[in-house]
Amino acid sequence: MTPQRNSETAWHHRTADEVMAILQTNRHGLTQTEAEQRLKQYGPNRLKPSRKRSAWSRFLLQFHNALIYVLLASAMIAGLLDHWVDTAVIAGVVLINALIGFIQEGKAEKALNAIRQMLSLDAMVLRDSKRIQIHAEELVPGDIVLLQSGDKVPADLRLFSIKNLRVEEAALTGESEAIEKTTEAVPAQVTIGDRLCMAYSSTLVVYGQGAGIVVATGDQTEIGRISTLLEHVDTIETPLLRQLAIFGRWLSGLVIVLAIGMLSYGLILGDYHLGEMFMAAVGIAVAAIPEGLPAIMTITLALGVQMMANRHAIIRRLPAVETLGAVTVICTDKTGTLTRNEMTVQRVITADHQIEVSGIGYAPVGGFSMQGTELLKNEFTGTLELFRIGLLCNDAQLREHESNWTIEGDPTEGALITLALKAGLDPSFEHQSLPSTDAIPFESEHRFMATLHHNHAGHGYIYLKGAPEEVLAICSKERSLDGEHPLDTSYWQAEMQEAAALGQRLLAIAVKAAEKDQMTLTFDHVRTDFTLLGIVGIIDPPREEAIEAVHQCRSAGIRVKMITGDHIATAQAIGMQLGIGDGQMALSGVALDQMNDAQLREAVSTTDVFARANPEHKLRLVKALQANGEIVAMTGDGVNDAPALKRADIGVAMGKKGTEVAKEASEMVITDDNFASITHAVEEGRRIYDNIRKTIIYIMPTSGGEAGMLVIAILLGMTLPISPVQILWVNMVTAVTLSLSLAFEKAESGIMQRPPRDPSAPILSRFMMWRIAFLSLVLTSGGIGLFLWEQAQGGSVETCRTIAVNALVMGEIWYLFNCRYLLTPALSYKGLFGNPYVLLAISGLVVIQLLFTYHPLMQQLFGTAAIDPAAWTKVMLFGVLLFLVVEAEKYLISRYKVAKI
Ligand code: ATP
Repeated sequence: MTPQRNSETAWHHRTADEVMAILQTNRHGLTQTEAEQRLKQYGPNRLKPSRKRSAWSRFLLQFHNALIYVLLASAMIAGLLDHWVDTAVIAGVVLINALIGFIQEGKAEKALNAIRQMLSLDAMVLRDSKRIQIHAEELVPGDIVLLQSGDKVPADLRLFSIKNLRVEEAALTGESEAIEKTTEAVPAQVTIGDRLCMAYSSTLVVYGQGAGIVVATGDQTEIGRISTLLEHVDTIETPLLRQLAIFGRWLSGLVIVLAIGMLSYGLILGDYHLGEMFMAAVGIAVAAIPEGLPAIMTITLALGVQMMANRHAIIRRLPAVETLGAVTVICTDKTGTLTRNEMTVQRVITADHQIEVSGIGYAPVGGFSMQGTELLKNEFTGTLELFRIGLLCNDAQLREHESNWTIEGDPTEGALITLALKAGLDPSFEHQSLPSTDAIPFESEHRFMATLHHNHAGHGYIYLKGAPEEVLAICSKERSLDGEHPLDTSYWQAEMQEAAALGQRLLAIAVKAAEKDQMTLTFDHVRTDFTLLGIVGIIDPPREEAIEAVHQCRSAGIRVKMITGDHIATAQAIGMQLGIGDGQMALSGVALDQMNDAQLREAVSTTDVFARANPEHKLRLVKALQANGEIVAMTGDGVNDAPALKRADIGVAMGKKGTEVAKEASEMVITDDNFASITHAVEEGRRIYDNIRKTIIYIMPTSGGEAGMLVIAILLGMTLPISPVQILWVNMVTAVTLSLSLAFEKAESGIMQRPPRDPSAPILSRFMMWRIAFLSLVLTSGGIGLFLWEQAQGGSVETCRTIAVNALVMGEIWYLFNCRYLLTPALSYKGLFGNPYVLLAISGLVVIQLLFTYHPLMQQLFGTAAIDPAAWTKVMLFGVLLFLVVEAEKYLISRYKVAKI
């Protein structure tokens, strides 16, 4: 039987035991069968999707655009002048444009939603008395959830056990200060922020640990009830799109001024008829507006984000895509990001010896040797206590599956279990003989872990392992084969230096006796009087692909800075192997603390390796780099990394080992924790930005060329060489076929060889403005030239116009090849045949153009006429000529470096 649950129950007013009784559960958790049964009854623990705008309103919103208003006004004017076909075609085009926009936006949003889903939340629960990790969606009321620092609370919980649990409830209360939780019931009427015994869904655990009973899931949670939050609609908006919208408004203004100017000129000076002049003004408005541009931008961004997800980078905030291309510095962690995070103990240093350990990875295969001579088991018994502490002061678990050894938990700790197994210790026997009663978990801040144990005789011990600097500072003695002696710090320093210079990660191991009745462990217990047993040296080889990626960053003008908690000599050695820092001196966290902001700014411009740094240092480093004008990407995984991640231009959280808190603070999540994926994302960001610019320089000249043709015709008092509906036709067919194919354009080969983009530079660089103006001129001349040529041979207006339209389209077809590369030559096999979408789009367009020219219905609608092969030859020649002229322009620009792309 499932419990009856009243959503109004004041869970915070009841004791944990009452809550358990009501929800028919206990401290060991539900059974799996019961949980499945409840899941059927209560439904999955997920919020109803945010109330989306209805399809209709999304469709109507497509018309809410300054450019479309101008078009609609043009359609009305054409109607008033009895040009009903024009009205119908303009309206039709506006409609088609809206439809395309609607469909593409829908697709883009779907793609982005799918990507968001990839970041789904997991929860640690007790089921059948076992700790298991499940998807947060499978949680049901009555489940027992275990929380730890860094987690996002997956459902509303009544806490019943806590250890220094602090929760940040900004998502719910707006209060960003973390709240210390308790387990005692509070009065029924207190507000959410004061219900200290509750942890609410979507809030973040920033410190400590805790356990709670799920009291509400999905929409029944407090966050689910705040309807305003759910109505928040994610829109696709980035600085670039905003810039484009502003540009669109300016353009509309300009178009209106131009149209009115031409109208007045024609009426006052030319001998045009009023109706004809109005239609010319409509034509200009229609021509100068790049109708397809906004939709194509959106689809380029969405496709790009999808592509990034395929390469292990999940974008959480869309503007990051653009910022990525401008990144000048990447600050990265070392362990796991630059290195493989596959740790193996290679050396054990005791007060008497230096023991080498053989074997690689987590398989407990290997032995011990001293100066090349293998050691027998009885020859290292003096070191067994050190191995035992490494094994017991440890939260990781080693697993074997078909001779494949893997670890669950921290790899550094996994390496210590393997070491103990190599020495012949039996983990379950050791854990039974010396059960642990309390622990201080490892944190990057204090860099050690301590556990409290008692043997069956009642003797207590505090086991400690951590960064040697921290451990040595609290040791007064060292243990050697003949007993305990005062600590010989200089001996240990020398040994550490030698091992760290090999790139080994160091961990010191120490012990202290505890009182028989001591059952808890606090920081006060780990301040003095420890005895050092030894230091282990662990290797963690660099990732091959990271070496390559660091190299790539260098050529792309991006500096890579390594910020690690590791020993200074280790960091320097690993930096050398990776190509970071060129062997220059690394800076330690302590040295950073002594610098003021100005000194730090100076230091960050020359130093690339920072060691023994903690998360606060990361924040200072980001600020200093930004003050120097850098655009900074910063990686992080822990709760304390969140401020630095938030502050960085691109916060990059680790998908595997990263906490939810770090992910929430980041713009991007790397699913494989690999540095190379950051470089790929930067490359992808540059590609997307390039493609957006390619689309702009591709689409704009069409509008410019058409408007130019009309303006010249009016100024010269000649028949309009192209009618408004024909203009719309050209704009539409080239936008939906040709320019869309640029969204699929691959990165240019030199994309990671050029410096990062200046983020303050406008999207339309001088080069782009030049190119747009130049091409507009070429298209205008071609269109008008071929029109006049045909006219001189006595062709009808319809025939002349059809030739002019086909010339424009042919010019666009060839110009598309030019635009595949901004300045690199396109006259190559790869340039002409490299993008299948381009070829497909062109084939489609050729068929459409033939219909436009020869189909009677099209002829009637668009005022076209059949043209002969000689005309096609001219049109074709114009296209090829245009292509060659642009290639020549590219050559001259790159040769004489007259413009920056
Ligand atoms: P990065 O910041 O690049 O990931 P890191 O992982 O080496 O570097 P931390 O995890 O902060 O940085 O570790 C710093 C030091 O703390 C290590 O060099 C090691 O001496 C010690 N240490 C690491 N893990 C543990 C652990 N589980 N228990 C005790 N000490 C540890």
